[in-house]
Amino acid sequence: MEAVFTPPCPYYKKCGGCQLQRLPYEEQLRRKTGRCIALLGEFGHVEPIWGMAEPFRYRNKVHAAFALDHRRRPTCGIYQPGSHAIVPVEDCLIEDAACDAVIRSIRDMLPAFKIKVFDERSGTGWLRHVLVRRGFATGEILVVLVAVSPIFQLQKTFVKALTEQHPQIRSVVLNLNDRFGPVVLGTREKLLYGPGYIEDELCGHRFRISPRSFYQINPVQTEKLYRCAVDFAALTGKETVLDAYCGIGTIGITASDKARQVIGVELNRDAVRDAIGNARLNGLKNCWFTAGDAGEYMEQTSRSGLRPEVVFLDPPRSGSDERFLRSLLKCAPERIVYVSCDPATLARDLKLLTAGGYRAEKIQPVDMFPWTEHVESVVKLIRH
Ligand code: SAH
Repeated sequence: MEAVFTPPCPYYKKCGGCQLQRLPYEEQLRRKTGRCIALLGEFGHVEPIWGMAEPFRYRNKVHAAFALDHRRRPTCGIYQPGSHAIVPVEDCLIEDAACDAVIRSIRDMLPAFKIKVFDERSGTGWLRHVLVRRGFATGEILVVLVAVSPIFQLQKTFVKALTEQHPQIRSVVLNLNDRFGPVVLGTREKLLYGPGYIEDELCGHRFRISPRSFYQINPVQTEKLYRCAVDFAALTGKETVLDAYCGIGTIGITASDKARQVIGVELNRDAVRDAIGNARLNGLKNCWFTAGDAGEYMEQTSRSGLRPEVVFLDPPRSGSDERFLRSLLKCAPERIVYVSCDPATLARDLKLLTAGGYRAEKIQPVDMFPWTEHVESVVKLIRH
């Protein structure tokens, strides 16, 4: 029988963001390991998941939706699952406290700066979302205001007041999104303050992060995840390494000290720009990054005769695709390190890779998302 446990969060029932709040942390970890064994056990031995010593305040990225409540007053918080009703979350136990404080400040500043919240029903108003990211190692904060138009009359005084309250803010960016739909960020941006990005440090390297680039949201666990991935790659210094779905280049750059060269491929151009900047920022001359679809790139690679000895892949939740995986098999690297944020799509992809001549030697789940049901895992595959 499961222990009776009071969920620590007062918003638990309405919010829906943390599905496992009814379970004590140890129990969550057991359950996640069990899920990995059920889905991945047929491929190899699954190690117990690596949990957090302090499973709170781990999120370095906070998103607040802004809207009018049922009495047409401006409010902000988290969307209730499956709806656009907002749960007015003041302070969230898994989010960084400094990020939450910036969002509260913005909410409280709205009337003085005549900022109207966008109303989906009437299509009037301006501000839709606020996104705040903080580099845990550097303390630098990035604020992204998502609005429907670039016109922001009191922009200078607003930025001045906000940065005075939160001196750790390094950049403020206005992102334009005038479309309906679930996507938070639009494609156009206007720089309001600072260089337009922040920097953070992970595994001894420095990384610049732009508003639309992917960056792991739990830096404490990310260090463990990356060290595990690099360890699984068993590099000797002679290898050509491919970092597929590389984001801002974090895994490849972390591995670069132990490799001859690293090539990263990533679809998001902003992230590729960050990755190239990150190689320079760390004084690395053996890292190259290219923009494009990982599957297409892998196909070209398999035709070109370039043979990476090690391939890292870290695709989104939907997993990789057949084009990538079949070309990967043709390239036949010695070792593949698969970093996955969904054990179900991972199992699907492992089926193909193991049928194609690889064996899962190690499987290590890492708890990147305590209190939620999400599970991250790293798999070492070797050719046999
Ligand atoms: N390895 C990075 C990023 C992982 S997230 C890190 O640890 O931070 C997955 C990344 O895959 C995202 O940056 C996303 O933009 C990218 N991506 C999604 N589809 C892709 C595709 N078809 N080809 C290449 N990259 C893709």
